[in-house]
Amino acid sequence: MQIMNDQATKEIQIEFKTLAEDAPVMLWLTDINGEIIYSNSRWKEFIGAEKVKADGGNAWYQALHPEDQERCLEVFKRSFSSHRPFEMEYRLKRLDGQFRNMLDTGEPYISEDGKFSGYIGSSADITEQRCSEQRLQQSHQEMELHNIEMALVNKLNSFLQICRTLEETYPVMLHYAQELFPDCAGSIYLLNESKTTVESVVSWSPNNEVQIPVIIPDECWALRQGKPHVVLEFEHALNCQHLQKVPEFGYMCVPIIAQGDMLGMIHLQFPEITDKSLNVTERSKLLESRRRLVYMTADNLALSLVSLKLREALKTQSIRDPLTGLYNRRYMEESLEREYSLYIRNEKSLGVIMLDIDHFKKYNDKFGHDVGDKILSELGNLLKNRLRKSDISCRYGGEEFILILPTAPVTILEQRAEEIRNDISNLSISFQCEIFNEITVSLGVAVTPMHADSATQLVKAADEALYQAKNTGRNKVVIAKDLCQRSPKNVTIKKKTNNKPGVVSA
Ligand code: GH3
Ligand code: MG
Ligand code: MG
Repeated sequence: MQIMNDQATKEIQIEFKTLAEDAPVMLWLTDINGEIIYSNSRWKEFIGAEKVKADGGNAWYQALHPEDQERCLEVFKRSFSSHRPFEMEYRLKRLDGQFRNMLDTGEPYISEDGKFSGYIGSSADITEQRCSEQRLQQSHQEMELHNIEMALVNKLNSFLQICRTLEETYPVMLHYAQELFPDCAGSIYLLNESKTTVESVVSWSPNNEVQIPVIIPDECWALRQGKPHVVLEFEHALNCQHLQKVPEFGYMCVPIIAQGDMLGMIHLQFPEITDKSLNVTERSKLLESRRRLVYMTADNLALSLVSLKLREALKTQSIRDPLTGLYNRRYMEESLEREYSLYIRNEKSLGVIMLDIDHFKKYNDKFGHDVGDKILSELGNLLKNRLRKSDISCRYGGEEFILILPTAPVTILEQRAEEIRNDISNLSISFQCEIFNEITVSLGVAVTPMHADSATQLVKAADEALYQAKNTGRNKVVIAKDLCQRSPKNVTIKKKTNNKPGVVSA
């Protein structure tokens, strides 16, 4: 019976060999022990007929990639004990010495009486298929990364769009720079107004490296040329002088330019590419995508910064008085309403000083309108310098000014008003070969809650106090009447004992 079976097996094998020999695919056959007892001409051609002749059934194992040998033997062993069909992928050295990706399929062949007799298998070179799959996966990953980056750049843009001042953009830039370039150290530099220095407004580093805070434009090739300067790892290139030490893995400086106007630059240091399996092309591809992202970020920053500057300029135009540089009346009214609401909430105080130039008309009449303008603009400068950042100084109209001082109590207000009066009386303005040093102002001071219970009333109270100052000799500070005493019928003028300038109550 055993002889019969062996005979049957042999017949199957012979039949297979006849059919397989000239088949256009690689085919092989094993015996019951896993020995390759036959491979067709396609298969022999693949690893070399000479090799097959020399090594026989062992030729396949010899041609296997060393890293795949153990795993393949394991699959073989398992299949020969389970007698189940199998599939395995491995790398096999072709006749030309190149390792190719192979896919083997093995089917057990069973003799008529149901006895397992070995495997009949095919081998397919799937290298191209794997490569295109890999390329597809890679481009899919690149696309996903690109989408994430685009979404981040879009978010950066929309946040920049709602920034009101340049300073407000810095935390936004920092946040998104870290998200976009998490493995790189970098810095965003902006050119100062006079274009003499470039200051780092934002910098980030995964290793807490410190970037040079201020550079001069001539120290950077990108700023000098107005185009990106990229230095790759190990590249022998001209380096920018602003670098404390040349970054080991390369760097780039990309100018931020909008409408031909240089605004600053992005400096980015490339990280170490730790994936040693990447070849030169893959490494440069990685850097290329980083480079594109920096260019895109620089372009977007440029547009946002330009539109912010434009918005700032427009806003300044709409809220500032051009002659004095102080806020205009509309802005004053809006600010007063806002400050009054804040005062209601914080229950501190809100002060207003109203001031008017004494006998201003005579300067115009005697010396001309230009002199009047000069005095107004000098007074604007003085008021701007005299006040704190939180205070608001406005040109109310003509030669009248209003100063809003949030949270200042009446004593401080009085003191500040007196200081301003004194400073103005000491002012010496030279214009068109003349010196004007006798300019004086009258001031009215009012503060909540003592003098008013609304924003409008606060201005009115200060105005009334100013009126008192004018009526009682000018060049003086008058504090408004207490709210309870103020009624049109009840206006009393507190006479000063001497005619020297000073502070009185209305
Ligand atoms: P008083 O001490 O009572 O305030 O007298 P005054 O002369 O300052 O007041 P008056 O209201 O009579 O005159 C204000 C003048 O201010 C009249 C106007 O021509 C002048 N003036 C208002 N705005 C401007 C300006 O923008 N430039 C110049 N040069 N003069 C201005
Ligand atoms: Mg006046
Ligand atoms: Mg006036």
